[in-house]
Formats: sequence, structure tokens, C-alpha cells
Amino acid sequence: MAMKTLGRGRRTATAAEADEDSWIEVSGLHKVYHPRKSEPTHALSDIGFTVGRGQFISVVGPSGCGKTTLLKILAGLIPRTEGTVRVAGRDVDGPLPEIGMVFQAATLLPWRTILQNVMVPAEIQRLDRAVYRERAGRLLEMVGLSRFADKYPDELSGGMQQRAGICRALVHDPAVLLMDEPFGALDAMTREYMNVELLRIWRESGKTVVLVTHSIPEAVFLSDRVVVLSPRPGRIAEIIDIDLERPRELSVMASDRAGVHIERIRSHFNAQGVID
Ligand code: ADP
Repeated sequence: MAMKTLGRGRRTATAAEADEDSWIEVSGLHKVYHPRKSEPTHALSDIGFTVGRGQFISVVGPSGCGKTTLLKILAGLIPRTEGTVRVAGRDVDGPLPEIGMVFQAATLLPWRTILQNVMVPAEIQRLDRAVYRERAGRLLEMVGLSRFADKYPDELSGGMQQRAGICRALVHDPAVLLMDEPFGALDAMTREYMNVELLRIWRESGKTVVLVTHSIPEAVFLSDRVVVLSPRPGRIAEIIDIDLERPRELSVMASDRAGVHIERIRSHFNAQGVID
């Protein structure tokens, strides 16, 4: 599908009209894979939820329950079998410029500098080079990587590469940021640091975020709401409001309230006999 080229003060008319409370809208979503040489796999069943503009939600669930599938459908990377998926007032039927995606590995191009990597989505969408170079520079500054703009990926640590990956996902100013287990490959301390960083980036950028994570504490720390999926085919087991005050610091995770949320999510997995 052809990407739409958008100018500077861009927002499509439909996006501007989108309901702020259902900035992302998923209803009656089913996904069945039909591999050529094996039986069909029912990956997602009757998924429905909405995400308000500027909200942060996480999706948790056991391995193979369809979390990545859900994110890929939201990103327009794979087709759905049934149901409605709308992002910023637009039906998702292919990759939309309204969406930025952060993958499990930073997947930076080794032959490009950090700045050149961050510019990739702007180049694909043929956006004004000068305007978006400046924006890329500001994003790198926001994540503390200004000094590394002209370095190559293998000169950066894993955490720094993932921060560059976040800048790349944000460079074209998408309405929605989708993140698939972005910190899974990082050590525990770097991961905690990245969680705090991500909250700051989220606050400063005002983006709507959907994060897939294996970590229940990470989901609770970051999110306004956590969508808990059942084992395959993934159905919605529960959607939990995380009523911890913002702005949040890591110390909030020691609070009783955080503990209650973590236990509640965990109880779904214990009941299902799966620990992810
Ligand atoms: P999760 O991210 O929760 O681990 P996935 O979305 O990756 O789950 O996968 C959900 C189910 O769909 C799994 O059983 C997986 O094997 C299956 N699946 C994922 N991608 C494909 C594909 N391209 N073809 C066939 N089956 C797939």
C-alpha cells in the first residue's frame, strides 16, 4: 500500500474528527492464520477495546496468545480475519503514517549513522528532509543521544540502540506508538531505567502508546490500563485500570496498590496454569 505523504502541520481531516476517547478502536477482532502446510491457527478471538488519545495501555498474556499478532494488525502489517480496527479515525488496512512501531530488537541499519537511522520513516514517506532532520535532532536530544547522532549502531549499547529505535518510531510524528516487547533483550537494571525514560518520553510527546510486554510489573508501572489476554486463541480475560498517581517513580512499585494490581493480573495466569 502506498504511504501517504503528509506536510508539516499535518493531521488528516478524518484524524482530526476521530473521537478522543476511542483514538484506537478494536471490535469483534478475529485472526486465523492459514499456513500452507499445516492446520489453521486461531490466534485471536473476539478482541474488543478502545484507547483514549494520549493513553498508555499494555497488553499482557501467555506466550502464543496473539499479542504480537494484535500489534501487527494494529500496525497494518498483516490483515485481520474479521472485525474493525481504527486508529486516529482511520480504518487500518495497511501501514498508516499515523503509526510508529518499535520492535523487539532495535533493528537499526548498521551502515547508517544513528541520525540517518532515525530519518528512515521520514525518507520512506518523502517528508521534508530539513524539517524532519531538525525533528530527529530534537528527539535524539530528548533521549540523551545528541552526542551519538553521527555514530554507528555498533558503537552504542543495547539500551541506547533501543532509545534510537524509539526516536525512529516517533520521527514522522505518528499519532500512535506501538511497541512490541521493546526492552526484552535488556538486562534488568537497564530495563528499569528504560521504563522511567519511556514514561518521560510519553509525557513529553503526548503520544498514545500500546505496549506488548511479558513483564507484569512493567505493564503496571507504565500503563493507564492493562489488557490481559487468555491463552490461545487470545481473548480478553480482563481490562484493568491502573489507578496509580502520575507522574510515577519506580518507588511506586513498592506500594500496596501496585501489589494489588500485579497480583490481580498474575491470578489470571495462575488460574490458567501458565506462567509466561
Ligand atoms: P505472542 O506474541 O502472544 O507470543 P503471536 O501473536 O506471536 O503470540 O502468535 C499467536 C499464535 O499464532 C501462535 O500460536 C503462533 O504460532 C501463531 N502464528 C503467529 N504468526 C503466524 C504465522 N505467520 N503463520 C501461522 N501461525 C502464526
